[in-house]
Amino acid sequence: KTDGIGWNFDNSYAQLPNEFYAETLPEPSSSPELVILNYPLAASLGLNERALEGEDGLAVFAGNKIPEGAQPIAQAYAGHQFGHFTMLGDGRAVLLGEQITPSGKRVDIQLKGSGRTPFSRGGDGRAALGPMLREFIISEAMHALRIPTTRSLSVVVTGDPVHREETLEGAVMTRIAASHLRVGTFQYAAARQVIADLRALADYAIERHYPEVSGDANRYESLLQKVIDRQASLIAKWQLAGFIHGVMNTDNMTISGETIDYGPCAFMDAYDPATVFSSIDRQGRYAYGNQPGIAEWNLARFAETLIPLLHDDQEEGIKIAEQVLSGFGKLYHSYWLSGMRSKLGLFNEEEQDVKLARDLLQLMKTNHADYTNTFRALTNDRLEELPMCKTSGFDEWLERYQDRLSRQSQSDEECKQLMRDNNPAVIPRNHRVEEAMDAAIEGDFSVMERLLEVLADPYAYTAEQAEYTAPSTSTTPYQTFCG
Ligand code: AMP
Ligand code: MG
Ligand code: MG
Repeated sequence: KTDGIGWNFDNSYAQLPNEFYAETLPEPSSSPELVILNYPLAASLGLNERALEGEDGLAVFAGNKIPEGAQPIAQAYAGHQFGHFTMLGDGRAVLLGEQITPSGKRVDIQLKGSGRTPFSRGGDGRAALGPMLREFIISEAMHALRIPTTRSLSVVVTGDPVHREETLEGAVMTRIAASHLRVGTFQYAAARQVIADLRALADYAIERHYPEVSGDANRYESLLQKVIDRQASLIAKWQLAGFIHGVMNTDNMTISGETIDYGPCAFMDAYDPATVFSSIDRQGRYAYGNQPGIAEWNLARFAETLIPLLHDDQEEGIKIAEQVLSGFGKLYHSYWLSGMRSKLGLFNEEEQDVKLARDLLQLMKTNHADYTNTFRALTNDRLEELPMCKTSGFDEWLERYQDRLSRQSQSDEECKQLMRDNNPAVIPRNHRVEEAMDAAIEGDFSVMERLLEVLADPYAYTAEQAEYTAPSTSTTPYQTFCG
């Protein structure tokens, strides 16, 4: 009876009160084909890659077969979208269940683009091939950059067209996540005003992600503290890598601290805090430089949902929420600064390090220097590659930097090693991602496979990476669209 794939499902989320989900089956695909399978990820989940590639695996990825033990549902949630509160839910995704991995980890297995659900509203529940490949490429790149993220196990084409501005090939991506609990899931529970349900959700989140606080005197305060800490760490990693999420709505912020929902995201080329790629973000709400502030705003929405659990007295609950929230800025700054020190090859801490880092960023901004390649040039001692190389401002900075390096006891080689470990030589350059997607849509997957190989080891500093390091030379600003 077993298909030999190694599914090992549990469905703990479906034990929550009924209001948190709707039992929903994926819509079948008419003639599915496997486009890409993530072999190392499959193996780490305890799944047999060979069996997954066969008929039984494909049927599951395409929504044509429910694996044994899975209990498919669409999750309910709410969220602030560009600041406006809305009741939402999985409109084009179905959670098959949770795979318990050989190492005992519990991860969600979700089909994205698998058809309409009770939460689809006006949408078709579908996804096009291009955006699903984009999510595959960028989430894998993020993983290789050591940034917590959901991952992609597979992409299949469905054989059914999807209608956008043009008619496109339909696809389903299988997404792996520590969980799909979002700030928006808590907003959904809070909006319904059933305290018992809210408490059930909070207890579930604690048990699943932060079991170490379950015995704390005020475990909901501890939960808030933990989520704030994880998100501060995550957003610092985004900033340090130049990643722009593009749509930081509260429904796209996880409780686990993983990056989720790769829609209009992109990596910044020339350093500029005002950088925005998303075609729908006309106000620049989710610009690069706004991300920490938006994260804090989203966490304030999360804290608000917990007030009834924080204390019996509402005033006291508010006080606790505000007190914990007020720690975000400091946490974020310390994660960011510690990451910056590593990028600059600094082992110890000095008061002026913040200014040293900020002055470098200012030089990059003034001289339209590429963010990633500036750190790469510093790492490689190739200062002549920097546009600000021969300016007096940079000379002055360099002198300060070299003085600073001389005030630590580590060797030059140790310093360079630290820099190579923290400054990626390659990131998913926008034109490279587009090129890979375009070729794949035409049926040539070799460009994407090559790109994925390079992105899998961004800190390698090998010669093969060289052709992937340049930003686009295009003069039209890059724009991303929601898939
Ligand atoms: P996002 O902006 O990707 O976070 O999506 C916001 C909401 O829109 C979520 O509830 C999605 O499930 C829903 N959604 C996005 N695309 C579709 C679609 N094609 N059909 C139905 N719902 C969708
Ligand atoms: Mg979303
Ligand atoms: Mg999305």
